[in-house]
Amino acid sequence: MQNSATSRISLLRALPSVDRLLRTDGAMALRSFVGAERITALARTVTDKLREEIQASALAGSSHEPSATHTREALLAEAVRRLEDACRRDTMAGVRRVINATGVIVHTNLGRASLSEAARNALAREAAGYCTLEYDVTTGARGRRGARVGDLLIELTGAEDALVVNNCAAAALLILTVLARDGETIVSRGEVVEIGGDFRVPDVMASSGTLMIEVGTTNRTKLDDYRRALNERTRLIMRVHQSNYRIIGFTTLPTLAELSALAHEAGLPLYEDAGSGVLLDLSQYGLADEPIISESIAAGADVVSFSGDKLLGSTQAGLIVGRADIVSRLRQQPLYRALRADKLCLAALEATLESHRCGTAIKDVPVLRMLSLPQQKIEERAKSFLQSYLQYAGSSALQLEIIEGVSAIGGGSGPNTHPPTMLVAISHPERSADNLEQALRSSSPAIITRIAEGRVLIDLRTVEPAEEPEILKVLTNLTP
Ligand SMILES: *Cc1c(COP(=O)(O)O)cnc(C)c1O
Repeated sequence: MQNSATSRISLLRALPSVDRLLRTDGAMALRSFVGAERITALARTVTDKLREEIQASALAGSSHEPSATHTREALLAEAVRRLEDACRRDTMAGVRRVINATGVIVHTNLGRASLSEAARNALAREAAGYCTLEYDVTTGARGRRGARVGDLLIELTGAEDALVVNNCAAAALLILTVLARDGETIVSRGEVVEIGGDFRVPDVMASSGTLMIEVGTTNRTKLDDYRRALNERTRLIMRVHQSNYRIIGFTTLPTLAELSALAHEAGLPLYEDAGSGVLLDLSQYGLADEPIISESIAAGADVVSFSGDKLLGSTQAGLIVGRADIVSRLRQQPLYRALRADKLCLAALEATLESHRCGTAIKDVPVLRMLSLPQQKIEERAKSFLQSYLQYAGSSALQLEIIEGVSAIGGGSGPNTHPPTMLVAISHPERSADNLEQALRSSSPAIITRIAEGRVLIDLRTVEPAEEPEILKVLTNLTP
């Protein structure tokens, strides 16, 4: 037995140099992935950290002293292992594909909507290189950005004109700034909400320079409450869809048509922030309380904003539809120039709106396809998933069972809608659910699941059939 000071010194001597570490096969292989400079920097961090740990006796404290060569080899192997880990963290950082097995359809943290095949093709094939973003090939002259998306939106919503900006928050900011800056905007107290991702109605009002006039109470606002707040400084009446929040029980709120009549009587525009952007009736799938944009326009809203990446099923975008004179004022603002959408967003939107127009959106647009999947269909998939697992894995320590559960809309839409689903529940006699969940999350691509009652749950509603074999492979390799 040596004392810990001597063993610490011998360990420090055995520590590989940065050069030695870089000459290992492991490091050489990693170099091609992360580049020479990065691998050197990581190797330095790894050896520095090991040195610190030895000095702090974190390693030296351990039992008796192994032979010098053994120590040297063990430390080198440990350094290579850590270098591999560091490189893996490097390459896993950033935007990477994941498999969403959570059953949350519009999952904000996972990029909200998964794009349709047509949208993916439009992005990659049409828009990624040079494209007709602001160019008219028939005349050879400059074209208008977003003209096609505008036409589709006009057709789908019945509005006079349309405009696309970065997201729905940007749309609200632009509309409030242009229509109500330096004046007052009337909104019901029950609609002064926060929608997640830091969209807060009072904050957007404040940054657009309009004074928010709250009327009514949290649960009840009457048309007369709006009427009494009208004065010569009023510029706008705003309706905000409560999105991920519901007031139930003893409630009153004027309809959009009633609000529109009041606004127009006073010579004011009515603005609806509709949020999730539903273009077709989804009530048969349990989603009845999201505003349908064409209905809002028909009810007399002068301008309506909604998101591109919620139930519309495309990329992040803020869609604005409404009266031609209002949209034209918005388009002429320098603020619009700062908030406008890029070619990738417009290409994906065009393709997605095309599916909506052709009436194939339920089948082609993933968020709608997932929403409309009946429980029985998911159960069939879950059963064959389970069978395939047993086939691949043979006897396995993992226990898989199919149980009833619910999926969620997510993304601040349909808080009361919980589509019934069938879940694959996974457990292991020795490994905790946290441990299994983490193992799935560490795979490539990461498989994101949820945990309930000590089991990992996979909801196939949000998993594409083509992704199922990827999950099966990871599960099969989880336990030897
Ligand atoms: C989601 C939502 C927003 C924010 O939309 P983003 O596209 O995320 O900026 C604004 N208003 C309402 C009513 C919403 O539901």
